[in-house]
Amino acid sequence: MIPIADTLLAWYAENGRHDLPWRQTRDSYALWLAEIMLQQTQVETVKPYYSGFLQALPGWEALARAPQDQVLALWSGLGYYARARNAQRAAQKVVADFAGRFPDTREAAETLPGVGRSTAAAVLASAYAQQQAILDANARRVLIRTQAVHGDPKSTRTLQHLWKLAEALTAADAHSYNQAIQDFGALICMPRHPRCPECPLQCRCRAYAEGLSEQLPLRIRKYGTQERCVFFLRIEDGDGRVFLEKRPDSGIWGGLWCLPQFHPQGASEQPVPCTAQHDALADGDALREQVRRFCATQYGLAVEVQGLTAFYKHVFTHFQLHFRCIRTCLQDDEQGMKVADQALSGRWYAPEAALAKGLPTPIRRMLSQSA
Ligand code: SF4
Repeated sequence: MIPIADTLLAWYAENGRHDLPWRQTRDSYALWLAEIMLQQTQVETVKPYYSGFLQALPGWEALARAPQDQVLALWSGLGYYARARNAQRAAQKVVADFAGRFPDTREAAETLPGVGRSTAAAVLASAYAQQQAILDANARRVLIRTQAVHGDPKSTRTLQHLWKLAEALTAADAHSYNQAIQDFGALICMPRHPRCPECPLQCRCRAYAEGLSEQLPLRIRKYGTQERCVFFLRIEDGDGRVFLEKRPDSGIWGGLWCLPQFHPQGASEQPVPCTAQHDALADGDALREQVRRFCATQYGLAVEVQGLTAFYKHVFTHFQLHFRCIRTCLQDDEQGMKVADQALSGRWYAPEAALAKGLPTPIRRMLSQSA
């Protein structure tokens, strides 16, 4: 095993990102919130969301009691919305089961929704000065390269090996060490094109010695990129208000507000796999007739189709969503009132009010372009 702690700590003292907002605190709530937001999201993207969220909901109690709509609106645009729903459930558990204090053992911390071993360890190390090892994406990559771990990085066997390495290599001052390895992974030992020539670990790095800096960690692709297609319906009433539906709590965009989805080839309104996106999302008389029928049967609304937007694409982890928005308006305004009563999951919103809701990024983009 190649020791790396002293070099990382010395490098961090000189070059670390000490000014990050979540590095200015030892408060467990603020540290935990940053860890949750930084899962799968870049530092620069997280910064404004972190400050806004902390300002609006500054502690466990406030988050636990907030309306879910407010939590999702604060998270809107950050993606992976299950994190927001889990964060609120975690805050409720901290308040109910741990007297409003982040638990002080890893086992207890891992019972909180959305908190895995690495997140629990990061909070415990910084909030309570415990010697706890992390294994987030940056730490994992630095360990894999410096120690030349050749296995599938996602396999249970490799992960168990990496956790053992992480535990053995973490310094007594885990608060500083964890931040050091995170920054080192983000700034020097980067995912693509690691900066080996200026790396202070170069003379001891096994991947570098083997000429494998760019090849490790191994990239094992298990899935091809799936393409899916869907139409979104922008239904406007006579006052220019748009109809939004609240999505069910589970699944992609769970709990967020969305334009109704529609696809003529789908058995339901869900996106369908497609290969030729431009054919699957083509305009035509048949499509417009299907839209009118869909609105009538689904919502009891008589609509006129006004036109379709250009083609859009949104990339998820396991698939790409191709979509267009179909603009429609109500033929009879009174029906708009009826549907608001009938469709419990749907409401009419003026465009500015709609933009204040928790919306998926592509829906926000479409609404702001035509607000
Ligand atoms: S020498 Fe290159 S691969 Fe090895 S730790 Fe440094 S940056 Fe990473």
